[in-house]
Amino acid sequence: NHLFDLVRAHLPPEPAQKTVIATPDGTRHSYADLIARSAAYASALVARGVRPGDRVAAQVEKSPEVVFLFLGAVRAGAVFLPLNTAYTEREIAYFLGDAEPTVFICDPGRADTLGLVAREAGVAKLLTLGADGRGSLSEAADAAATDFADVARKADDLAAILYTSGTTGRSKGAMLSHANLASNALTLAEVWHFTADDVLIHALPVFHTHGLFVATNVALVAGATMLWLPKLDAKQILSVMPRATAMMGVPTFYTRLLKEPGLTREATRHMRLFVSGSAPLLAETHRDWATRTGHAILERYGMTETNMNTSNPYDGERIAGTVGFPLPDVALRVVDPETGTPLPCGEVGMIEVKGPNVFKGYWRMPEKTMAEFRADGFFITGDLGKVDARGYVHIVGRGKDLIITGGYNVYPKEIESEIDALPGVVESAVIGLPHADFGEGVTAIVVAGPEARDERAILQALEGRLARFKQPKRVLFADDLPRNAMGKVQKNVLRDSHAALYA
Ligand code: ATP
Ligand code: MG
Repeated sequence: NHLFDLVRAHLPPEPAQKTVIATPDGTRHSYADLIARSAAYASALVARGVRPGDRVAAQVEKSPEVVFLFLGAVRAGAVFLPLNTAYTEREIAYFLGDAEPTVFICDPGRADTLGLVAREAGVAKLLTLGADGRGSLSEAADAAATDFADVARKADDLAAILYTSGTTGRSKGAMLSHANLASNALTLAEVWHFTADDVLIHALPVFHTHGLFVATNVALVAGATMLWLPKLDAKQILSVMPRATAMMGVPTFYTRLLKEPGLTREATRHMRLFVSGSAPLLAETHRDWATRTGHAILERYGMTETNMNTSNPYDGERIAGTVGFPLPDVALRVVDPETGTPLPCGEVGMIEVKGPNVFKGYWRMPEKTMAEFRADGFFITGDLGKVDARGYVHIVGRGKDLIITGGYNVYPKEIESEIDALPGVVESAVIGLPHADFGEGVTAIVVAGPEARDERAILQALEGRLARFKQPKRVLFADDLPRNAMGKVQKNVLRDSHAALYA
């Protein structure tokens, strides 16, 4: 159940010949390098005082070394704790104070300022690792032994603490065990048919569950190759596509690629799979993609706390606007948010999940952990959705984004879908704002071309399509929607900036 045993058990036949990571500059690392280099990182970390169960925190730019560091930390029996590269010093101070890591690894360019922050937080050791893979940590690894006896771990021991994206409030540290990560990697590799023949386009950040666990772990347990791109760059992705077989991305990947004239059937001929997740994929994007490339994007649903929960089928119909079926080892139910009673098929309620993928709780938040689990072990995801007659799961939005207006529940996604279908509209976000009469007033923020920026026209168009209580009281226009690093729309930012609209 040791995550690294799993990687070892699935090594391709000739580890020294098989590339695990290739970068655009032509650098290649083999599976044999992965074993040796992660051992060196493990030795270096242990030599710097890392003991089993210690946290190894890192705010570092994406490079192949991050994978070696992650696996090195896990082999040393430590708990890997990656941090968003966008976090400011103040935020880092909070995370270091909360997680109390033994070592903190940062970019060489920020060592002065973050060194101070780390010292104040009581972190014993500061090391550096840059985007070019150089720094005091990689130098220590260069000098360290490349054989390492992995520290034994139990299935429930932690392999990582991953902070949630902070879309709805302050990020929470999700404690993920070896078994959590291992089980989901195996399940996904199987349901998505990953093999050693796969070449995965990896342009996601590696401080988030999508890039670090879904993409990287799945590729590793399949013995596949990753094309390691520093960030989302549509042209660069297109340039490597003829060599690749699969891509995992957030919806922004797909909308950006659709803007490239080079995205054609021919350009995607070598690809077998496109996966989307982390935020809702517009049904329109799904359709446009199919028209342009002939591929049906496979949408799946997960979260930091649970790894992945559902996926559209590999074989079988991938339905736009749905996140597919619960994974084979995941139990999923939809319940009344107040009473916890399971709801009949087709009714919208709180999505709850249970399985080997579900985390051990929030780091140092026992009350919060208690509150988010039912007595029978189901985790309350905070996402509202339904299961249709064919068993496909639909996400209608987050519980925190549910609008209650005049006593009625309004699910933003239903309104957003209607608005998005109007000519000239690019996308929309529907939120509830404080309203003296209604409690909350349904409000639409719309991104649209100049011809469609007409509040009255949009309200009129919605009149016949939505019940009166669901219709927005106001429609506001914006050039774009505020999004975080994972392409998630930050509705709390919108709610804050328009809080006084009905005051
Ligand atoms: P926080 O919990 O800190 O507010 P977050 O929930 O955005 O942030 P993540 O764990 O990165 O942090 O994201 C998980 C959430 O992303 C899910 O709970 C769900 O709301 C959303 N999500 C993921 N995949 C999909 C999808 N395919 N469709 C719709 N929503 C999705
Ligand atoms: Mg969340």
